[in-house]
Formats: sequence, C-alpha cells, structure tokens
Amino acid sequence: MKYNQLLKQFTYEVYLKRPIVSPDRRTNYRIERVNGGLLCDLWFLTAGCMHDAQGGCVMCNYGRGECSIERREWERIIEELKSIIRKIPFPFEDFLLTPSGSMLDEREVPPTMRDMLIPALHGIQTKRFIIETRADTVTDAGMEFLREIVPGAEKYVEIGLESSNNWILKHCINKASTFEEFCTAVNKIHEYGICVTANVGLGFPFMSERASIINTIQTIRDALDAGADSIVVFPYHIKKGTLLDVMYQKQMYQCVSFWALVKVLNCFPHERDKIQISWYKDYFGQERSYIYRSPSTCPACEGKIMKYLDDYRETQSAACVDRLNRYSCQCREQWEKTLQEQPDHIEIKHVEQLYRKLAECFNLDQDLLERELSEMKREFEGQKVG
Ligand code: SF4
Ligand SMILES: [Zn+2]
Repeated sequence: MKYNQLLKQFTYEVYLKRPIVSPDRRTNYRIERVNGGLLCDLWFLTAGCMHDAQGGCVMCNYGRGECSIERREWERIIEELKSIIRKIPFPFEDFLLTPSGSMLDEREVPPTMRDMLIPALHGIQTKRFIIETRADTVTDAGMEFLREIVPGAEKYVEIGLESSNNWILKHCINKASTFEEFCTAVNKIHEYGICVTANVGLGFPFMSERASIINTIQTIRDALDAGADSIVVFPYHIKKGTLLDVMYQKQMYQCVSFWALVKVLNCFPHERDKIQISWYKDYFGQERSYIYRSPSTCPACEGKIMKYLDDYRETQSAACVDRLNRYSCQCREQWEKTLQEQPDHIEIKHVEQLYRKLAECFNLDQDLLERELSEMKREFEGQKVG
C-alpha cells in the first residue's frame, strides 16, 4: 500500500478544518525574473488536488475549493484568465499554467475545461509552457492536450517527486506515489517529445536537517538518472492548514536554513543549468499563500542571502553559487556545527516518538496506531533508508 493510514488520517483531519476558498478568488497570477527572462505563473481555482481531499501531502495547501464546479463557473474562470492574458507583458521565457493541484487529473480539471483552455491561451508568446501534475495522472489524452495548447512553445510537465525514496514518500510526506511511478511518467512524457521537471523537496519532516539534505541530494541524482530534464528544489515552508503547521506549532518541525539550499546547490557543479530553486520565499503574501514561516538565516545576513538566491534563480550561474559560498556569517558557522552533530540517517525511534505524539494530538485509535507503526518499522528494516 502506498499510504500510511496514520499520516493520511492526520492530514485529512487538518484538511477538513480548512476554509473553502471563495470563488471570487478564482484566478491569480505573478510575474518574476527567472532563467534570464520573465516567468508568468497563472493560477486558477478548482476543487483542489484530489489526493489532498483524501488526506494529502504533509506540507501542502494549495487551497480547497467547492467540491463541484458548474460549467458556468468554468466559463467565468476562462473569462478571467483571458482578461489577465490581455494585460500581461509578452513575451515570456516561462509560462506556467496551474490549477489548485494537477492539470491532468480529469476529476479536477475536466476535459471540457481543458478544451476551453486551448483557445483561451491562444496567442501566448513564451519559450517554455509548463503545467504541473501528479505522476499518476500522466495519460496519452493529457499529452495530446499539452501538444495542442500554446503551439510553438517547448512543453514541460512538472511532477512533484519530492523524494526518490519510497519509504520517505509514504511515511514522511504522504505522497501516495512512488519513484517507479515517476519513472513511468517520465518515459510516457518523453514519448511525446515533452520535457519533464522533477520538483524535489528539501526539509522532510520526521528526520534531521542533515538526513533530509542527504536525501534531497540523492533524489536529484536519481531524478536526473531517470531522465528528468530539469529539477526544481523546493525547501518546505510552513503553510496554515497543513500537518507541517501542526508539527511546527508543537515544536516537532523546523524549516531548513538557506544554508541547506546552498549545500544542495554545491553538490551539482556540472548540472547547474538543470537545477533551479523555487519557493524559498513567499511570493504572494500570507493571505493568499497561507505561508507564515519560510526558510531563513540570521537577520544580519538574510536579506543578502535572499538576494543571492534570487540572482541564482534568475541566472543559474556558477558565479551566484560562488558568491553564496564565499559569504561568511556567524550563523553559518553555527549552523554547520549543529549540522555535524545531527544524525545523517533516519532514526526510526525518533519517527515513532513523533507519530505517537501526533496520535495524541489527533486522538487516534490505539490499535490503528500500533498496527501502522509496526508496518512502518517492518518496511524500514526491509530497506536501508538513509
Ligand atoms: S503536493 Fe501536489 S499531490 Fe501533494 S497534496 Fe499538494 S497538490 Fe496534491
Ligand atoms: Zn547570518
């Protein structure tokens, strides 16, 4: 089974408490400097990610919309998207079209809506056109849609891989997806001449920052070996309405430092043009993004480091990483020292303690707790999890 029933239940309970996003916030967009040009991120509201609605990923809250959306509402969304498209400045380097979850999940974005999107986006000038979707939603019909929309642009599918380790996917993230499914999706997408971006997480819960950095580095290697054309590293932040939010409030989780991101970038001097970073800061503000805590460093260097990371996002150049590497601050020394004292692997006892604490918070059935914990430990023994 791809689920850990405990994690699924925790995240489901958190999901149920989230307010429904008002339909008058049905669209949004942002523009920023990325990859030597402009990126437009155009978003529209749906019922939300179908995985999320059943108890989804621990760090995610892309918003919970009304369960069923009438055709009239889809038409309103299309009208709003068109009016945004009329006013934004073309051309773009990257154009990302994203719903509240997976573009190719027909339960979330029905084929009728896809059909309306093709003419609505007609005339967009962009070098690359990108959608986001879960690995298990990649189908031939989805690929045909992607071929048709925004003709002339290079197409990319971004898949939330998070980690290439199935134990972590199941017991630390609740991704309900495996690395093998990611690899299958990569092959299918490539059959259509479309590129793949793997979204890789940094700062997995239930383990030390050091163990998480090591896993992120391994995941990037695995994703590149599996054929991913590019990688985006996402350091996790704390969003309201997520399990990470609960864990943070109860001192069971901390965001990683910016220095962790620098460490990861340092490991790939020859693949730098394939490795991008994102969401190391909040682009929309708490009201829209729900983010209230992000990765950081100390107040003395945070502004500078953020600027250097922005520069890296814009250029992906070695010079930016060199500048980050040369930067010295007391907080960095302290961070390195603390890191070396942390375990470089997952400590199953620690994971169990956190699960027991969460079970108390959520008043969980004791039998279910014991059953799932023994399954989790059995699977941990069965594979070496680093
Ligand atoms: S990260 Fe992706 S798959 Fe997970 S809940 Fe969020 S939208 Fe769904
Ligand atoms: Zn500092």
